[in-house]
Amino acid sequence: MSPMFVPGPVDVDEGVLLAQSQPMVPHRSQEFEDLYLRTRGKAQPLFATQAQVFIVASSGTGLQEAAVRNLARKDVLSCINGAFSQRWLDVALTNAKQADRLEADWNRPIMPEMVADALSKKKYELLTLVHNETSTGVQNPIQEVAAVVHDVSPDTLICIDAVSSLAGVKIEMDAWGLDMVLTSSQKCLALPPGLALAAVSERALAYAKDVPDRGWYFDLVRLEAHLNKDSTPATPAMSLIYALERQLDRIQKEGLENRFARHSTMAKHVQSWVTANGFEVFAQDGYRSNTVTAIKNNLGLEFEALNSFLISRGMRIANGYGQLRGKTFRIAHMGETKLTDIQNLLAAIEDYLKII
Ligand SMILES: *Cc1c(COP(=O)(O)O)cnc(C)c1O
Repeated sequence: MSPMFVPGPVDVDEGVLLAQSQPMVPHRSQEFEDLYLRTRGKAQPLFATQAQVFIVASSGTGLQEAAVRNLARKDVLSCINGAFSQRWLDVALTNAKQADRLEADWNRPIMPEMVADALSKKKYELLTLVHNETSTGVQNPIQEVAAVVHDVSPDTLICIDAVSSLAGVKIEMDAWGLDMVLTSSQKCLALPPGLALAAVSERALAYAKDVPDRGWYFDLVRLEAHLNKDSTPATPAMSLIYALERQLDRIQKEGLENRFARHSTMAKHVQSWVTANGFEVFAQDGYRSNTVTAIKNNLGLEFEALNSFLISRGMRIANGYGQLRGKTFRIAHMGETKLTDIQNLLAAIEDYLKII
């Protein structure tokens, strides 16, 4: 298998891929209800929560939409420091919410003081914040931001996009007082694409009941009513749920703390390689992602040529995202990637630097 150092979809363990080939059962059956209940229970530790975990057939963006449709009648504060948080603002606006933009430079984090300031000027029902901006490699201090929200505006619901961090970086939903934490299957969770998961707090579910026009497919109230009967309103992505259960067992076997430590070790290794080889990390020091590093292309490398070279060695990395394309390139170190994979990749990039 040729390792991909691309921030999603990432490489999937062979056994997890094979778990998808189990036979279908009717989704209105005891077998499915048991599977669904077990899998949701096994997912709770990733969020460090007692809250219900919803599993839906969509990518993560679907749950960004669910958050704004269910948790705000009108007023949303959208924290933006990269392309995925920008998308979430667009999702809110196209769902007719009154979403205000709170932006930091894209190489910098959303700081608690900025949020406190915005919340002291206007009342917001919902704050949206991306934990790990996959487009820039900035990791936002969500625990500290949540603390100021509780302090300045305790009724504001906090929704975190943890698409490229959940299961790779510690997130304590209950201890930090987060109301909704969402992720997709194909990044840090290292599953095929097509599933999205979110844990949702009791108070967020209660708030949703009074929000009009929640839609149908992503209506959390409808989803919860079915979930209480261990079922789903629409047909679930059964093969992916088989794979999810298998992957959750693997993660439990590795141990969450070990998994977090593996990600952190890989991140530090990449970061020191970057500076030792004349490059610069895009993200501000102190707020660098443990799952993906965006590297400034200050040496003016031709990205396509570099990646073709890597592909000839059975690896690949990612270009910068959106407006950072060409100006940065990205190395993902998430999911099942190991330090030795990273060492092989960096050695190959060094070989490339010698021949150009
Ligand atoms: C990839 C990504 C998304 C979009 O997720 P999809 O599963 O592609 O819909 C949202 N937020 C972040 C932080 C991401 O990395």
